[in-house]
Amino acid sequence: MDIKLDLLRQNRHDMARLWKKETGGKVVGVFCCNVPEELIYAAGMLPVRLMGEKEEASEADLHFPSNCCPYVKRSFDQGLKHRYDYLDGIIVPNTCDMVRAMYGTWKMNLDIPFAYFLEVPQRISPRGIEFFRERILDFKGGLEEWSGCEITAKAIEDAIETYNLNRRLLQSAGRFRQDGLLSGVECQNMVISSMFMPKDEHNRLMGAFLEEAARRDTPPLGVRLLISASMLDNSDFIRLLEECGGSVVADDMPAGSRYFFYSVNHSSDPFFALAERYLVQVPCPRKMLPRDRFEFIKQVMEETGAEGAVIHNLKACDCHLYEYPYLKKMLQDLGLPVLFFRGEETEAEQETQRDDIEAFIEMIRG
Ligand code: SF4
Repeated sequence: MDIKLDLLRQNRHDMARLWKKETGGKVVGVFCCNVPEELIYAAGMLPVRLMGEKEEASEADLHFPSNCCPYVKRSFDQGLKHRYDYLDGIIVPNTCDMVRAMYGTWKMNLDIPFAYFLEVPQRISPRGIEFFRERILDFKGGLEEWSGCEITAKAIEDAIETYNLNRRLLQSAGRFRQDGLLSGVECQNMVISSMFMPKDEHNRLMGAFLEEAARRDTPPLGVRLLISASMLDNSDFIRLLEECGGSVVADDMPAGSRYFFYSVNHSSDPFFALAERYLVQVPCPRKMLPRDRFEFIKQVMEETGAEGAVIHNLKACDCHLYEYPYLKKMLQDLGLPVLFFRGEETEAEQETQRDDIEAFIEMIRG
């Protein structure tokens, strides 16, 4: 099953092209965990998370210096190499500086008919939620104007239900991972595949996958690890941790639990419910103070019995790097050993990380 999920990621461009051909619908690329994808789905379009590839960013290198976020640079590189030529639109939220820069960069350099900038408040507060609710309403209006179709209340309700089901299935996968029925790699591949497949199709796939996983014998777990990371848009780093004797039982990552923790509440005002879920409940350092994020991480650690923490931050990711000293201290105060990496997530880099990870796991084993 893991191989199949890996293949889904590899074939994501072909799958999106096929979906477009079969349905005649629009495909919309999104950055970050702050875009309420439900509205895109309710408009009958396919939201896909923009991701890069681990290859030389030969085209994007001509536009950006080497000291910028490798994730956004590699995603843009895919665009410049025409791998995203099926996109009808992109949604860029105001999250970090690098993502923000992608609005103008993609618009100016790539032939994409629709580009939308979604404002996201800087801090969480009642005013912030109300402000974001209004921006989400504007976003709905923008999608309607572009597509020429109304997004009905019923379609929004159905989309929320479908997305919530997907979150519940991914939460089950998270519990399976904690119990050893799924590896960290399998769980990560499930999250990533959910980011570019139609959610109803992914829900069916997940249902079958989890049914099969529930029948497995529980293998002995390795050293139980929590991983806290900025964007990891593939499962290679988790695979490395598990090859070295770790078992990733919990995560604090954008392409991980931040995508599926917390559902959208049922509410008479779905726009308020979406604003609340995406602004307040996604524990992202861009908008949440360290002390509030630590409560979330502490709870995850306690529930999963993590024995050690690995922090992986992409080079130039200010959002995550600025909180690293606090995060490390907080984890160490709780008695957890911490291993830290900062880099670009290249093949060569991973080979140098292997020794450190093996030593860290041996140290925990005592
Ligand atoms: S990894 Fe960091 S710098 Fe890159 S897009 Fe995410 S938050 Fe921004």
